[in-house]
Amino acid sequence: MHKAKILVIHCIDLRFQEMIDADVKQNASYGEFDRIAWPGASIDFENVKNSAIDVSLKLHQPDEVIIYEHEDCGAYGQNNAFETHKKNAQKLKEALIEASPDIKVTLKIATFEGIKEL
Ligand SMILES: [Zn+2]
Repeated sequence: MHKAKILVIHCIDLRFQEMIDADVKQNASYGEFDRIAWPGASIDFENVKNSAIDVSLKLHQPDEVIIYEHEDCGAYGQNNAFETHKKNAQKLKEALIEASPDIKVTLKIATFEGIKEL
């Protein structure tokens, strides 16, 4: 089994990839993390959790999950408030901890001013 140090989840949006990669690389190198890029990230709970995340948890047993939301997300349309992103990310976090009680889950948001804690 090849174990992942971290599972990283973020939106597909091209504008934030470089910023997110720089942040990820402060925590893990290429070759040490799984990555799920999905439109809207945690807003699409069913697909992200039940399809993509469960595969990573099962196959690579990451110690930590970092969920990156981002501002001005097309999947959120007009309702791009931090609180809405936080609510969805929190729901995903709770489901992850329920599935893997020992897992560490960190919530972040990519903004045009940089990465912030969510
Ligand atoms: Zn997005």
